[in-house]
Order: sequence, then structure tokens, then C-alpha cells
Amino acid sequence: MVTDKEIAELIFPEVTETIDDLEKRFPVRKLKEGAEVTRFAPSPTGFLHTGSLFTSLICHKVAKDSGGIFYVRLEDTDTKREIQGSGEELLKQLELFNIIPNEGYLGSSQKGNYGPYIQSQRADIYKVVIKYLLENGKAYPCFCSQEELDEIRAKQEKAKIIPGYYGPFAKYRYLTNDERKEKILNGDPYVIRFKSSGNHVHKIKVSDLVHGNFEIAENDMDIVIFKSDGLPTYHFAHVVDDHFMRTTTVIRGEEWIASLPIHLELFKTLGWTAPKYAHLPVIMKIGENGNKRKLSKRLDNEAAVSYFLKDGYPSEALIMYLMTIANSNFEEWIFEHKFEHMEDFVFSFSKMSLEGALFDMGKLNFFSREILSKKTKEEIRDMALAYSKTYDEKLYNLIKSDENFFMEIMNIEREKENPRKDYEKFGNLYESISFFYKDLYDASIKENPLQFNERFSLENVKEVISKVKEELSINQDEQEWFSNMKAIGETLGFAPNGKLYKQNPDQYKGSVSDVAEMIRISLTTRRNSPNLYYVMKVLGKEECDRRFNLLLQK
Ligand code: GLU
Repeated sequence: MVTDKEIAELIFPEVTETIDDLEKRFPVRKLKEGAEVTRFAPSPTGFLHTGSLFTSLICHKVAKDSGGIFYVRLEDTDTKREIQGSGEELLKQLELFNIIPNEGYLGSSQKGNYGPYIQSQRADIYKVVIKYLLENGKAYPCFCSQEELDEIRAKQEKAKIIPGYYGPFAKYRYLTNDERKEKILNGDPYVIRFKSSGNHVHKIKVSDLVHGNFEIAENDMDIVIFKSDGLPTYHFAHVVDDHFMRTTTVIRGEEWIASLPIHLELFKTLGWTAPKYAHLPVIMKIGENGNKRKLSKRLDNEAAVSYFLKDGYPSEALIMYLMTIANSNFEEWIFEHKFEHMEDFVFSFSKMSLEGALFDMGKLNFFSREILSKKTKEEIRDMALAYSKTYDEKLYNLIKSDENFFMEIMNIEREKENPRKDYEKFGNLYESISFFYKDLYDASIKENPLQFNERFSLENVKEVISKVKEELSINQDEQEWFSNMKAIGETLGFAPNGKLYKQNPDQYKGSVSDVAEMIRISLTTRRNSPNLYYVMKVLGKEECDRRFNLLLQK
């Protein structure tokens, strides 16, 4: 009679290492008490999803704050779904968010003693463990064809019972080793399945750092652990890798909770202690039908991290925003800490909401404005250059044409206790500041003639602008400048404040704010701009006069 050992040998004659050898090759890490080893385990199947950035942020934070290790493992066993180059791209993007692994897959290289960190390079390790399972009758070769699998499924659907390869339906589980040997020698194709000893009517108690303790049905599926392409499936690779890479806490998306019983059974069967688990809530949005749904790669721009990068959001803003999703007390904390030093915030799994958070663009914009308002003009220049170099050539050239002028523009009401929050991203910066530039201003008024409030005739406007040009000096402080503007307005029939004008609409042409608006539109082409006094100062008298003259000549 053929033994399990012989089957194992027949399948993996080249494997001579044992699990004990692997235990020695990847010894338990010597870290201080409480240090967590976490990992981010992306599949190279496309862009960095916002949910994955969220996961990696938490993995990084937990390891860093506990003095542990954060590593990246590339899960590329699904070769059909792999997109060339996306692994490197993911790592580059993480770096932009300052999420830098201590070890693991780093894009173009790998670092650390627990590798390789690319699953497709770990086949020899998986084979050792699978050989062990085969030898001990805990796994078996399964020769089930696709047609047979379809038949089983059809039967189960008809009988309205749980679909899958388990119990009486696990057809090849019951072959004798002699039959297995014969088929293998015959060259019949096969995969290797785990031989589950569970029963789904039993419940197991599980514990999750986010979800607490709960019960879930035991696994009874004979899942595929090794595919015919020589690579393992996710479930098996997760267990082997997190054991031998000595992960202490597996932090991953909530969608994996359903397969936790499989993972726990595998750990138990191998006699290994399972890591702690933290299943993170998914990021949602309100869908077209008004219901909450997961952010979708296909439907939602904000599902891809690259969208925020292209739009020029500061990476800190997105990270800060994601932290508000992670811990409900973070928002208050960061307000108290004036949007600074978020690395000092103490993160806790227990303060994570169980319901998927709704992605809130408004809040992201808010954080972004706060963050940008706190940067110095030099920092803003550097950020804008870094952004525009990749994404916005026009902006890049504009800044480069005169970096000091750009900094002056960006410095309007910046260096003060409560800086203005005029900017939220770099993606629309060109458009926001273009009017400061002579050529762009001229081109703009050619294309779109200035539009003043319809209550005023061009003659009214010209009268105001002419006097402003002659009499309103920018070589005085803001208050005096404003008083002067009021006085000029008054001589031309404009009330010094809006209230007075409202009370006596017949006595005035308008109020000082109409005067300011005329100046603003003349100089900036728009109704909204940064503080007009400073705009005038940045433009300088000569350029202000030139713009006024263009209007007066009409
Ligand atoms: N490769 C899996 C994924 O991308 C990782 C899940 C995990 O972190 O274990 O979803």
C-alpha cells in the first residue's frame, strides 16, 4: 500500500528541507516587548487603491509606534491578473506619503532576512510546507477537472446547499494513495488541496483587534493550496509567509474576515500560533441609488491614490484625512495640535469604527487648505515645483519664469497668526494665479472682456478707476489704504459701508464694496481673489496703472 510519505516524495522529490530547517532559517525576531511586526501585502494588479493606502498607513503607524518592523510583501501569485510594473509604482506612491518600509519588497530591490518578499520567488518555501502536509495526510492531490467542478456546483445549487469542495463533495479526497500514485504517474493534471477536518455547523471563537470577539462557522472546505502553475493560493501563502516572516499583527481589509476560519485551521494544523488580526473597515461612498457602497476602482476617481496626486493634493492632507477615518478622536486631536505633528497621535484599534467610513471630499479639502496655509512660501514653491514637474508643465514654467514673484504671490497673507486658506491643491493653481502674470492677464481680457456688475455703466466704472489710479496709493498700510478707498468712493457717491447704502439706496450709487469690486475685476479679471490690497502690492504700481489704463482707454 502506498503511504502518504511516498505520495509526498512522488510530488516533491526535489524538496529536502524540512519545516524545522525553515524555523531556523527564519528565526523568531529579537524585538523589544510589545514591538509589532506588520506588513502591507499588495497584489501587483493595478494602481494603489485609497483603501490600500489606508491599510498601509495603519500598518506603518502600528509598527513605528511600537518600535517594531513594517515590511512590504508582494503577493503576485495570481499571475493572470498581474500588471507589469505596478509593484514598483505602488512602492513609489507609498513613499510619496512617507510610508517607508523597514524591510521587504522595496520596488526595485528587497531588503531583510525574512525574504524573498515576492511570493512568486518563494515556491521552494511553500513546497516544504506542502510536502509536510502531504506526508501527514493533511493535504492531497486533487484531479478534479473544471467539468467535474461545474457538475458538483450544479448539484449543490439544485439541492440548495452550500457550494464548494468539501465533505462528501470533495471527490478526490477519498482516492486511495495507490490510485493517486497511478494518476500522478499517468501525468493527470492536479492541484493540491488542504484536507479540512472542520465542520461548518461548529462555531469557532475568534478575536479581532477591531471587531472584538465573535463566533464564526468552522472551515470545512478542502481549499486549493497549491495550483497547477506551481504557486500557492492566497490563503496558504498568507499563513506560511506571516508565520515565517514573523508577523505579529495581520492588518488587512474586512473582506478577509470570511476566510479567517480557513486561515485559523491552517495555522492550527501546522501547529503554529496565529498572529493577531485587525480587519479594517472599508471606505465607502454614497452610490447613485443613495445607498452606501464600497469605493469602486471602476466608478470612483477617489478610489485611486493617483487621482489625488494628479490633482495636486498635499500627501499630508490625504494621510491626515485617512487618520480621521481610522480613529474617531483624531480630528479633535489634530485641531488641538494645530494640524501639526500627527505622528504623535496615539492610534488605537479599539477606536476604529466598525462601519465603513464615507469618503468625504469636503473634509479632505478642508485639511488640505489648513496644511497648505501653514507652509512657508519656500515650502510652497518646492511643493508646487515638485508637483508641476510631473503633472503640469504650464505651471512649472510659470513658476520657473520668476520664482521670487511666485513666492510673493503665494505669500499673500501667509506669514501671520491666522494665515489665509486660499489654496487647497496644486491642480488648479495655474488657473488661480494666472492673472498675476502680465501676459496671461492680457490674453485673458482679450478672450473674455471684463465683466462688471450690471448696475454700473462702463462710464461709472471708469470714473472710479480713474480716481483710484490717481489717488489710491499702495505705499501706506492696509487700514489707511482702505480708508482712502472709502473716501474716494464717497466723493463719487458710494456709501462708506454696505449698511448705510442698504438703508438709503436712493442716495448712493453703491457702497465701498462695489468700489473694491471694480478695482478687483479690473486688476484680476475676477470677482474673487486674495486680499486686494496685497494683490495690488504684488502687482506693483506700474502694472496696476497699466491694467487700469487698458480699461480707461475703452
Ligand atoms: N494580497 C492581498 C490583497 O491585496 C492582501 C491581503 C492581506 O493583507 O493579507 O488583498
